[in-house]
Amino acid sequence: MTTIEIPAGHGHSFHAEKGQRFRLTTPKGQQSADFFAFCADDLSEGLSPHHTWMPTRSLHPRPGDTFLSRLRRPMVDFIEDGADGVHDFLIAPCDPIRYREFGAPDHRSCIGNLTEALTTLGHDVPTCPLAINFFTATTVEEGYMFNTPQTPVAPPGGYVVLEACTDLVCAVSSCPYDLVGPGWAINAPDGPTEILLELI
Ligand SMILES: [Zn+2]
Repeated sequence: MTTIEIPAGHGHSFHAEKGQRFRLTTPKGQQSADFFAFCADDLSEGLSPHHTWMPTRSLHPRPGDTFLSRLRRPMVDFIEDGADGVHDFLIAPCDPIRYREFGAPDHRSCIGNLTEALTTLGHDVPTCPLAINFFTATTVEEGYMFNTPQTPVAPPGGYVVLEACTDLVCAVSSCPYDLVGPGWAINAPDGPTEILLELI
C-alpha cells in the first residue's frame, strides 16, 4: 500500500490503472477534497458530475454510484463511504478567477493545485475540468443550495474508497478555501488541513 499525505491547500496527481482502488481520508474532518479524473487515453475526457447524476438521480455521491465522464464513459466506482454521505456534486472547483473576485488574487486554488499536480506527470490541464467534492457539506432545500453551520460536516477520519473503471490520470486537491464573508464555510473554521491518499 502506498500512502501519500497531501499538505493542506495543496494537490497531488497519480496514475490509476483499471481496477486500482484508493482511499481518500480527511484525518481532521471537514476538509474538502476536490477529486479530478481523466481518461488516460484522452485527458480531454474528464469526470462530469452532471452526466453522473442523471442515472443516479442523486445530487450527492452515494456508495454504489459509478461516476461518468462527459462522454458518459464509466470512470470511477464509489465503493465505500466512511464520511456519513457528506459529499458534493454541485460546486465548481475554486480557481484563480474566483479568488480575484474575492479580492485575493494570489490565493491558492483547486485548479491551481490541479495544474501543479498534472505538471509533475507531464500533462497539461484540459479545458474547464470539473471535480467531485468529497467531504464537502452542501444541502439542497426547495431548489436552493445551502452550506450553513447546521449542515452536517465530514467527521475526523472520514474517508471514501474508490475504484478505477478504466485507466485514469487522477488528482486530488485539499481545497485551500479559507475566506470568511462570501457565505460559504467550505472547510473547517481554523483553515484547510491535509488529505490522505492511500493506493490500496
Ligand atoms: Zn477549492
